Amino acid sequence: MDKILIVSHCILNTSSKVVSYNQEEIKQENANREKLIKYVLKNNIQLLQLPCPEFLLYGAKRWGHVKEQFNHPYFRKQCREMLEPIIMQLKEYASYPERFQLLGIIAIDGSPSCGYHMTCKGDWGGEFTGCPDLHKKFYNLYMAKEPGIFMEEMISFLKKENVDIPIMDLSTFTTHIN
Ligand code: SF4
Repeated sequence: MDKILIVSHCILNTSSKVVSYNQEEIKQENANREKLIKYVLKNNIQLLQLPCPEFLLYGAKRWGHVKEQFNHPYFRKQCREMLEPIIMQLKEYASYPERFQLLGIIAIDGSPSCGYHMTCKGDWGGEFTGCPDLHKKFYNLYMAKEPGIFMEEMISFLKKENVDIPIMDLSTFTTHIN
């Protein structure tokens, strides 16, 4: 039987990510990616890569955002459109349980788009220039225990199409594999 794992885009392509200056975070994520890739190769698991909504919509020079900035109808609609061919593929695989096993979807916790247990939120927005409390604004960032926008759309799309597949985040998944 083929085992299939669905992964957030940047697990296989970190070039899609927002430029990060947090070396500790980068090191930890790379260690998790390496562990996952080794596990996948060792266990002959097939990978299906999700699109990166932020790179597609905002490109390589985007700032880091918070969930509130993506929580608007057009971003959600674009997420659904990107997800449609993926969900159709998952539906097809799920119709042949004797041939395919859908292991799960790997999210990226903390991301305002691809987080599952956690997403970053804050009262961000507006012009930088002339903003009297810009410094204060940046520091009101916090992690909320909820999915990002892309994952929210994924969850409701899967439900609508009756596809039952677990969602986990990269660090939780890699703590449970050898
Ligand atoms: S939007 Fe998702 S896939 Fe793209 S860089 Fe962020 S976490 Fe990775």
